[in-house]
Amino acid sequence: MTVFSTESFADHEQVVFISDDRVGLRAIIAIHSTRLGPALGGCRMYPYADEASALRDVLRLSRGMTFKAAAAGLGLGGGKSVIIGDPRKSKTPELLRAMGVAVNRLGGRYITAEDVGTTVDDFAWVRQSTRHVVGLPEALGGTGDPSPTTALGVYHGIVASVAHRLGRDLRGLTVAVQGLGNVGWSLCGLLAGAGAHLVVTDVDGTLARRASVEFDARVVEPDAIYAAQADVFAPCAMGAVVNDRTLPQMKFRVIAGGANNQLARDEHGRQLRDMEILYAPDFVINAGGLIRVASEHEGFNRAKVDAQVEAIGATLHRVFELADRTGTPTQAAAMRLVQERLGGGHADTAGSNGNNGNNSARSPLAERVA
Ligand code: NAD
Repeated sequence: MTVFSTESFADHEQVVFISDDRVGLRAIIAIHSTRLGPALGGCRMYPYADEASALRDVLRLSRGMTFKAAAAGLGLGGGKSVIIGDPRKSKTPELLRAMGVAVNRLGGRYITAEDVGTTVDDFAWVRQSTRHVVGLPEALGGTGDPSPTTALGVYHGIVASVAHRLGRDLRGLTVAVQGLGNVGWSLCGLLAGAGAHLVVTDVDGTLARRASVEFDARVVEPDAIYAAQADVFAPCAMGAVVNDRTLPQMKFRVIAGGANNQLARDEHGRQLRDMEILYAPDFVINAGGLIRVASEHEGFNRAKVDAQVEAIGATLHRVFELADRTGTPTQAAAMRLVQERLGGGHADTAGSNGNNGNNSARSPLAERVA
C-alpha cells in the first residue's frame, strides 16, 4: 500500500495508523489541517475491503472537513478517523475505549465525533479515555443528535438559494426531497411550515407513506425524483446524485440539500451552471450539524449556534455573487472562498480552544466577499 502518493494525501499534516491486537482495533486518524483550529471530524466504522480503501476514505473525508469548517466560519480544522471492521460484529466497549486512547495521544489536535457505523451512545465509551470528543448524548453534557440542526441550515440555504435564483420566498413553490431520514424528515417539516408543496421519495416506502400523511406530500418512486416537476431539488439521501444519468432529466431551478458530495464529478457543477440550475455547494449548506457539535467544544450556546446556522444563508449569497461575477460554477466559487480563508489562518493552534476570534454569527468567509 502506498501512503504519500495516495490521491488526497496532499496537504495532510499528519496521518496516524493504530493497531491494538488486544481489542482487535485497526484504525487510521487523518489530520488534514489545524490551520484554523483543532481538526474535528467523525469516526467512521466500516468493513473496508482492504487497508488502501480505508486510507483513501479517511484522507478524502478529512480534507472535506477542512473545507466545511472553513466555509462555516468555525475556528476548526479538518480531520477524520476510520475504524476497519463491521460495526455490527466487532464494536465493543473495549475497542471504543482503545480508540479514545489513540485520540487522546494526539493531545487535542484531533477531536472525534460519531459518523457512519458509530452512534452518539458509542462515544460515552470513547469519552472514558479522552475528553477530545463532541456530539455526546445530552445525558453526558453533549448536544445530542445534530440532524435537526443540519436540516435547519439546509432550510436557510434553500431560502437563500430561492431568493437568489427566483427572487421570492418558498410559499407555493414545490420542493422535491430525496430521502426522509434524520435530515430529510426535519427539513420536510420546515418546508411545509413555510408553505412549500412537497414531492418526496425514500427507498423505505413506510417513511414515504408517513410523509404523504404528515406533510400532505406527493410520493414518487426513488428513480422518478430526478424528473419531478419541482422548483427545488433537495438531495438528503446519498452522494453523487447529480451525474451523467440524472442531469438530463432535471428541470429544477435550484439544487440545495443536505447530502454530502452531491456532484459525481466537478464538471457537473459547470453543466448545472449552463442549465441555469443554481447549485448550493453541499459543504456550505449542510454544515449545521458540524456547527452544533463544534459548539460543545467551546461551551454550547444555543443563540450563537442558531445565528451561525442562519448565517449559512448569507454565506451562500456571497458564493452565488462571486460565481455570477466570475462566471464560475458555485462549487468552484465556494472552494475559492475557502482557500482564501485558509490562506489567512494561523499555522497551528493545537492545545488552544481552536477559536481564532471568529465568534461572530456572520461567517468570516461571507465577509471576505462582501
Ligand atoms: P439517514 O440514514 O437518517 O437518512 C437517509 C434516508 O435516505 C433514509 O431514510 C434512506 O432510506 C433514504 N435513502 C437511501 N437511498 C435512497 C435512494 N436511492 N432514494 C431515496 N431515498 C434513499 O441519513 P441522514 O442523517 O438523514 O443524512 C442524509 C444525508 O445527509 C447523508 O448524505 C449524510 O451524509 C448527509 N449529512 C447528514 C448530516 C447529519 O447531521 N445527519 C450532516 C451533514 C450531512
